[in-house]
Amino acid sequence: MASHQRSPPASDEATATSTDHESALETARRQLDRAAAGLDIDDAVLERLEHPAAVHEVTVPLERDDGSVEVFTGYRAQHDSVRGPYKGGLRYHPDVTRDECVGLSMWMTWKCAVMDLPFGGAKGGIVVDPKELSADEKERLTRRFAQEIRDVIGPNADIPAPDMGTDPQTMAWFMDAYSMQEGETIPGVVTGKPPGIGGSYGREEAPGRSVAIVTRETCEYYGYPLSETTVAVQGFGSVGANAARLLEEWGATVVAVSDVNGAVYDPDGIDVGAIPSHDEEPEAVTRFAAGIDEDDGVRRISNEELLELDVDVLIPAAVGNVITADNADAIAADIVVEGANGPTTFAADAILEERGIRVIPDILANAGGVTVSYFEWLQDINRRAWSLERVNEELESEMVTAWTALRDEVERRDISWRDAAYVVALERIADAQEMRGLWP
Ligand code: GLU
Repeated sequence: MASHQRSPPASDEATATSTDHESALETARRQLDRAAAGLDIDDAVLERLEHPAAVHEVTVPLERDDGSVEVFTGYRAQHDSVRGPYKGGLRYHPDVTRDECVGLSMWMTWKCAVMDLPFGGAKGGIVVDPKELSADEKERLTRRFAQEIRDVIGPNADIPAPDMGTDPQTMAWFMDAYSMQEGETIPGVVTGKPPGIGGSYGREEAPGRSVAIVTRETCEYYGYPLSETTVAVQGFGSVGANAARLLEEWGATVVAVSDVNGAVYDPDGIDVGAIPSHDEEPEAVTRFAAGIDEDDGVRRISNEELLELDVDVLIPAAVGNVITADNADAIAADIVVEGANGPTTFAADAILEERGIRVIPDILANAGGVTVSYFEWLQDINRRAWSLERVNEELESEMVTAWTALRDEVERRDISWRDAAYVVALERIADAQEMRGLWP
């Protein structure tokens, strides 16, 4: 077992102001139990889904640029593979823990099943602050991590992808390290690569695009024409920025955006195309905010205030656990579309439901990422690239199909959108388990 040289902050330290902190694993397990209670699912199937199939923990030594050696801890949690190879991102973040990886790997299982992709769920990462690494250090760390988990991944076994703190370049190094050891180029071992080496056009924008598509469908369904709809977006990384830009293009008014330092609110709408995303230029929202004149209702506000704005649609697209029992009563949006993974705690979700606020869950809303990952994997296996137009057309159709399946359950069973997503996912997974049976 690896020892942590850098341990994540104690949870009470990280959440000193919140009375409602729960780990991704706790949220994921509570959601599963709640959904299963309303479904006729075999107890044995459920019991298996409560636990990951495997969690790999590895030590990743890194030679720093100054010649010293530092040791990091890496994980790969593999939750379920009954419907296909494990699939899910790699996260580089100081708060990564074993439990977080397990919780996030469970969400990947449901996400792939909601989208009807032939994948199971996984998630991994390294306990490290990538901002403290030079590009060379990040490359060495990634290559060594690829080597440490090489035996448990592969294009037919477990296919990593980008997540918080990792990007297409990280995936390129990872693919190269794996391929060099295998003695042949194997682009299908990871997705989210740059297009020149087997990556898919449209993959980087895909999670934001799917958030925008399901927002559009949901707004139309509940009678909010986009031309009269106001939207607040928390987080301006790839998910938040791309969702904001598309919704603006389709006629919505984006009245607030934020980054880690704070937010800007303009009731007449912000020209979101003029602000680079965090990936294009880190903390550009901060610079944009510094340059505004605070008049005519235009204001600099905090991230907490953004969440409580009286808008039609709120899109939390930054980190997990931002809507908690502490602020759920103050959320004034009519519709919440989860761009981040796990932005709403279990307790907050119940409060929002009771207040009649519709929550479109992460496992549908940001699933465009893994859906285009699936397209990328198909392109890699077939050695044939798709055009951006084809990727976006197929993504549109997959998202609308998945959204419609959830809407049918919402109508038929009179349940929340999150419960509907679990119904669809669990039925597909339970069917697969039943058909395959238990071996030996
Ligand atoms: N990390 C992304 C997610 O949370 C993408 C996973 C993938 O493409 O495999 O959905």
